[in-house]
Amino acid sequence: TGTIETKADVPPEEKKPAKLPPGVVLGPDGKPCRSCSSGAAFKAWSSLMKGGVATTAPAAAQAVASTPSDCPPDVEELGRASWTLLHSITATYPEKPSPQLQSETKTFMGIFAKLYPCWYCAKDFQQWMQDERNAPRVSSRDEFGRWMCEAHNHVNVRLGKKEFDCTLWEERWRTGWKD
Ligand code: FAD
Repeated sequence: TGTIETKADVPPEEKKPAKLPPGVVLGPDGKPCRSCSSGAAFKAWSSLMKGGVATTAPAAAQAVASTPSDCPPDVEELGRASWTLLHSITATYPEKPSPQLQSETKTFMGIFAKLYPCWYCAKDFQQWMQDERNAPRVSSRDEFGRWMCEAHNHVNVRLGKKEFDCTLWEERWRTGWKD
């Protein structure tokens, strides 16, 4: 297996102009990257570009609250939508997948990690998957569902969030909670 190319490999600090609000991450093109930044930080930058001063947390939060719902996603919205898709794929995965589907699923996860729109998220996810202990496990629905839960927990830990109990993955994403 070859090395997966990263979409961008330049630390944001090296390209950051002097006046960027904290939390704004630059994309591979050197411009602020919406799908890599929090909505509040991106809004603060956007306001600054329009000559405003929305760099305080309350002003940025207010700007986010007034943002229409049909705007391009920030890093959190993109993440929630992506996890919903990924866990839902595991929920509809066959209990006994064919060897061909198993192979295609591994390929899909590799390509997904490469194309993920937040470049530093993509880079970290690829690195995590490249560790042989974390290679996708896809020989049954339960195995794939648990692997996806572990993958999500890796990001949760990275962000300082609580780990999800992976014995409950199927209730959360397939059957619904038991009464
Ligand atoms: P999410 O973490 O999006 O979770 C949505 C729902 O999934 C939760 O409400 C919960 O019910 C359920 N859930 C939570 N954990 C698990 C689990 N382990 N298994 C099953 N279900 C679970 N953001 C960054 O800021 N930096 C990153 O480096 C980064 N990397 C990412 C990499 C990938 C591949 C993806 C898909 C997203 C990444 N994100 C990253 C986004 C981040 O994971 C969150 O989606 C985002 O912060 C919003 O979090 P949330 O608290 O709303 O819930």
